Amino acid sequence: MQWHRTPLVYSACVIGAATVQLVWHNPIGWIALAIGAGVYLTHRRYQAAKVADWARSPSHNNPPTNVGPWSDVVKQLNRYIQLQRELLSESQETTGAIMAAAQALPVGVIAMDGNLEISWFNRAAEQQLDLEESTDIGKNLLHLIRHPEFVKYARQRSWPEPLIQKTTQGTQEKLLMLQFVSYARSQRLLIMRDLTQIDRLETTRRDFVANVSHELRTPLTVLSGFLETMRESPPESFSDEQRTQFLDLMQEQAYRMQSIVADLLTLSELENSPSADQVPIDVPSLLESARQQAQALSGGRHTFEWAIDPDLPLLGSNSELASAFSNLLTNAVRYTPDSGAIRVFWGRDPEGKRRYSVTDTGIGIAAEHIPRLSERFYRVDRGRSRAAGGTGLGLAITKHIAIRHGAQLVIESRLGQGSTFSLVFEPEANGTAT
Ligand code: ADP
Repeated sequence: MQWHRTPLVYSACVIGAATVQLVWHNPIGWIALAIGAGVYLTHRRYQAAKVADWARSPSHNNPPTNVGPWSDVVKQLNRYIQLQRELLSESQETTGAIMAAAQALPVGVIAMDGNLEISWFNRAAEQQLDLEESTDIGKNLLHLIRHPEFVKYARQRSWPEPLIQKTTQGTQEKLLMLQFVSYARSQRLLIMRDLTQIDRLETTRRDFVANVSHELRTPLTVLSGFLETMRESPPESFSDEQRTQFLDLMQEQAYRMQSIVADLLTLSELENSPSADQVPIDVPSLLESARQQAQALSGGRHTFEWAIDPDLPLLGSNSELASAFSNLLTNAVRYTPDSGAIRVFWGRDPEGKRRYSVTDTGIGIAAEHIPRLSERFYRVDRGRSRAAGGTGLGLAITKHIAIRHGAQLVIESRLGQGSTFSLVFEPEANGTAT
């Protein structure tokens, strides 16, 4: 609408009304002009009211139409609003992506103001400190973590170093690395890394090194003691019998160290090789060599019973399974007193799973020891294990082999009544042997 048309139309109407008055001496022109002006002004007022209504919340209503001279204003405003809307949705998308990334961070993050009042935290923080959005937003962080050491750390002016802090969550102990960071004016972030797993691994490694040293120290001490005695005493101070006895004892200790080192190497190989072979195993012939070993070890002191399904298929590593099968069998011989019975089973159990189990009528194991038996160097009776030539690593190796074959090592035992050690393999997928 061009603004100058209005005065032109209005001037033409005035001239028309004046002409009617002058030529016909009739005021009808003026009356029509007054009525027309009234209608025109009312219509314009109505259009202005429509625009004002819309302008009160332009982003929620459709822009008004037929608003005469306001159309241009409405159009411009509407374009501006659309542009703002697009900008807003773009920035909402960016904020959403940033928040999703912060939520997905594997480290815990808590955002706070300068007074340590919590304004936001991510999922990892929620799990690490057992936080809940509905109750903990707005709380002071020092009401949630009250360890004096942490309170002191939080009150520092700057945080050049992180703080390592133990926390307890229910019955679980956790080790967290905490680091404050300041941002914006006086906002704070608390970054938390969970070190529990790393700490556990480190403890296991330390225990393992201590255990290995301890296991090797005893035979080494015995061996070097004999050597020293023999070197420092004149040869004639020992009878031939004594010399043979000393040499036998020394050899026994050397064998002992050899077995420990051999088992450690086996464990390390199992840990370092990616996965077990998947070749078809001839279980009956594998059990035949295990039988020969066991019977040689038993020397006729035990009775054996064999229940072997010759047709049950199995895929895996021949050497690993041979070691696991014979480990369980020789343990049964070593921990079953003379005239005990040992039963070996290879077949399907009632659930259709393939099961290798060795049942003995031996010394049995008290319930509290059973969950720990497959830990490295764990023995119920250290002296008895040593006397039987054990290294304390056999079940750790067997369990490792079981895991590598998707099998489970199941131990059932009653003190004084005997034990059953089983390797339970998952049923074959789609009828194929695994
Ligand atoms: P070890 O070389 O000492 O036999 P293992 O790892 O093979 O080490 O076994 C760990 C411990 O489990 C043994 O020291 C023994 O106390 C117990 N154990 C294993 N097999 C039997 C069994 N058949 N009967 C009773 N105790 C057993």
